[in-house]
Amino acid sequence: DGGGNVKVVVRVRAFLPREIEKDTDCLISMDPITQMTTLHAPPDDEPGNSQAKSRKVIEEKSFTFDNSFWSHDRKDRHYAEQEDVYNCLGEEFLDHNFEGYHTCIFAYGQTGSGKSYTMMGTPDQPGLIPRTCEDLFQRIEAAQQETPNISYHVRASYFEVYNEHVRDLLVPVHPNQPPYYLKIRESPTEGPYVKDLTDVPVRNIAEILRYMRKGDASRTTASTKMNDTSSRSHAVFTIMLKQIHHDMETDETTERSSRIRLVDLAGSERAKSTQATGARLREGSNINKSLTTLGRVIAALADSPKQRGKRNKDVVPYRDSILTWLLKDSLGGNSKTAMIACIAPSDYDETLSTLRYADQAKRIRTRAIVNQDHIS
Ligand code: ADP
Ligand code: MG
Repeated sequence: DGGGNVKVVVRVRAFLPREIEKDTDCLISMDPITQMTTLHAPPDDEPGNSQAKSRKVIEEKSFTFDNSFWSHDRKDRHYAEQEDVYNCLGEEFLDHNFEGYHTCIFAYGQTGSGKSYTMMGTPDQPGLIPRTCEDLFQRIEAAQQETPNISYHVRASYFEVYNEHVRDLLVPVHPNQPPYYLKIRESPTEGPYVKDLTDVPVRNIAEILRYMRKGDASRTTASTKMNDTSSRSHAVFTIMLKQIHHDMETDETTERSSRIRLVDLAGSERAKSTQATGARLREGSNINKSLTTLGRVIAALADSPKQRGKRNKDVVPYRDSILTWLLKDSLGGNSKTAMIACIAPSDYDETLSTLRYADQAKRIRTRAIVNQDHIS
């Protein structure tokens, strides 16, 4: 039951004020019945551009995903609220966590496409991460009333991968000190992990939300100093859920551990090396490394195992970047995984590239197992 494809959904955001000012056209349509997303060609209104446009093929392209979330205009009957995204995806994934499966949900898309809005949201419009935290503790509290022979233990950590370095987001940044970076180690049982990462026990919703905000603030603090880190960094929020069950009749104790990973990736436009120039080059190319490697990992995993076997046994290049190395399990191993492709309403080139990326991710299969042990 644990074998399955990566679940892929797409979400389009509303116009931003600057797009409304420019009277931009929306190039996206979604069919609520078939879940088909269509990207339309931009109108050919600039005469000087028509020749350049005709050289590249700019045409209508359609893709079908597991879900399509229309968050473009609130007036639409099918408008998808933050709550709808949670109900369609977050809730199901939390069910899997209580069953003992590891899960991972990551948001992909260009800067400004709605990744952070979808994952973190705003105080008024909380996203997937705070909703998952809230639902998690509500379920634990309800279960504690009904099944006193199960105890629940929750821990949380939050780190970012920036410029091929790992930074602990739960450790405050001191203004006069350089940030310190953590090393990656590999354990034979757990696989790659971040050494010395702060991993705090949390007892209730208020505590976990406090850590979430603290980490988020740490990400933003750095971004004002190093010109917009958040579009250049990958943020990984992890919740570990341990359920210890004592069977009164057999006197046996079993432990179920599951990991909930929620990832806000760097802006996908960063994958293009041509944009990096001058002083930003080194930084840029390193950031590209995690994103471009993620692209190669997805492409390799999307190949059928037969094709892959023909070419080379060890062809999935997880080890080539920090992000893919740390997310190895989530991408192609013991995890139920989902990708949210976030798109802007009026950027043909970037949106096409995101939709193609998402289309490829649909073909990835993972093999999740229930992580359960008898402890006595
Ligand atoms: P990213 O993290 O991909 O760079 P953001 O999540 O910061 O993008 O979104 C860019 C802007 O668009 C923000 O001002 C955000 O509040 C707004 N936005 C994104 N998605 C939505 C949405 N579904 N509904 C309303 N506003 C949105
Ligand atoms: Mg963001």
